Amino acid sequence: MSQRPVQALALPDDLVVLQRDWLSSNNLLCLGEQAAIVDTGHVKHAAQTVRRVRAVLGTQPLATIAHTHLHSDHCGGTGALQAAWPTATTWVPEPSLDAVQRWDEDALSFDGTGQRCARFGADRALVPGQPVRLGAHDWQVHAAPGHDSLAVLLFEPRHGILVSGDALWEHGVGVIFPHIDGSAGFEPFNETLDVIERLAPEIVIPGHGAPFGRAGGAIDAALGRARERIATFQAQPAQHALYAAKVLIKYQMLDVDAMTHADFERWLNAAPSLHLLHRQHRPDLDWPSWLAHVLAPMFGKGVLQRDATHVRDGN
Ligand SMILES: [Zn+2]
Repeated sequence: MSQRPVQALALPDDLVVLQRDWLSSNNLLCLGEQAAIVDTGHVKHAAQTVRRVRAVLGTQPLATIAHTHLHSDHCGGTGALQAAWPTATTWVPEPSLDAVQRWDEDALSFDGTGQRCARFGADRALVPGQPVRLGAHDWQVHAAPGHDSLAVLLFEPRHGILVSGDALWEHGVGVIFPHIDGSAGFEPFNETLDVIERLAPEIVIPGHGAPFGRAGGAIDAALGRARERIATFQAQPAQHALYAAKVLIKYQMLDVDAMTHADFERWLNAAPSLHLLHRQHRPDLDWPSWLAHVLAPMFGKGVLQRDATHVRDGN
């Protein structure tokens, strides 16, 4: 039995949340004369994403594809959706439009994190302050730096619905990527939480996990937990570095399922972000000792598994 009362989240009928498992982000379908999707999941699940979207839309074409941010778990299905519905217009946060059109994998952060994403095109820019029509509603666009410097929030004010991407989850916080490359600290994440508080949403549709509502205090509780976690990171940045390293390694293994020991080693050595995190976490350890230190609890808890030949994704 559920530990808390079931809250009837009053999402309008024309908003359909496809809740996904890791690695994919959730997908929000906005129905109407011009059907739209927000965030498209990981490339690993791209065919499944197209199938699930088609199951909802039937013969209606997908007209619009929009993104909260361009991490590989939020835009990996975009290429497949564009192939299925070639007339769709694709929107990305404004500062990324040029990088997508040139497909600059370094600027798009796929190289730095050692992640993969299928190439896609982009036509239009999501600009904070300029509303965008998605399905049957007009959505405000708000800047949401923190997890990703270029991310945006989408807010539908009539029903109080916030698409938060990875700026706010019900439980836990995402990695603060701008802190890894040194381009920003933790404060932008807090400022984005302030923006969310001011918008006072009724319902949050997060990038990962189930939607949650104001009723019963779930949104306030989520904001409180996120602020607490950021305060911990601010007091002890090394904790964030360790958390981020584990997330990046787990993410890779969720993508590939298994790697030979040699390939695993090669991937670890080649991921620039991990070297930055090594220096932020324990510069006193040499690289092999640091990796062993990070990996030991992951193997110990079964998050990763290994046999004679391979490292595998665990529980
Ligand atoms: Zn995500």
